[in-house]
Amino acid sequence: MTLSQPPMSPPELSQNLPKLITQSQPPVTEEDMRQAVRTLLLGLGENPDREGLKDTPKRVVKALKFLTSGYHQSLDSLLNGAVFQENTDEMVLVRDIDLFSSCEHHILPILGRAHIAYIPDGKVIGLSKIARICEMYGRRLQVQERLTAQIADALQGLLQPQGVAVVVEATHMCMVMRGVQKPGSWTVTSAVRGTFAEDEKTRQEFMSLIRHSPKFHS
Ligand SMILES: [Zn+2]
Repeated sequence: MTLSQPPMSPPELSQNLPKLITQSQPPVTEEDMRQAVRTLLLGLGENPDREGLKDTPKRVVKALKFLTSGYHQSLDSLLNGAVFQENTDEMVLVRDIDLFSSCEHHILPILGRAHIAYIPDGKVIGLSKIARICEMYGRRLQVQERLTAQIADALQGLLQPQGVAVVVEATHMCMVMRGVQKPGSWTVTSAVRGTFAEDEKTRQEFMSLIRHSPKFHS
């Protein structure tokens, strides 16, 4: 790894104290990142200069930046005021939202679906925004449990609804392609808030609505 010098240290720190390494010091440039990918390729026994790999460091850095672009998004900018007043207290359910993320242990894909329900208490949100919230948290390095909870807490915070329920079903490439090598294994996580946590009947209603049904689309 190439370490560049920090641009400047405050005088009070530069005396006798050892230099502290923080996340932003030294700043990591795109070139540093490409160099790191090149080092990985070398470590794997590859020749990073052969034609097929020549631009791979550049492409990998670009892809990883895209797959983690959710770090630079916020709920505020994402929603752009798409929360509306509405007098309804019926359950709103969006099921089978495609969800892509990256596991933080291996930086390998997590592919799955989210089912999200809430019971409004005066406020509703544009349905497409629910998918955008999943996308924002998906485009970060994640564990599935945290991803599920973050989606639930985001909706709970935004809408203060009577309750929120989120179920994520996903398959982890780090399990499918390596490690236990179990293709077809699905991990199911859920996060329930408010009524869904307190009332068994409401929770059961949600669970029965998201149960896989081959006839659902016909
Ligand atoms: Zn993993």
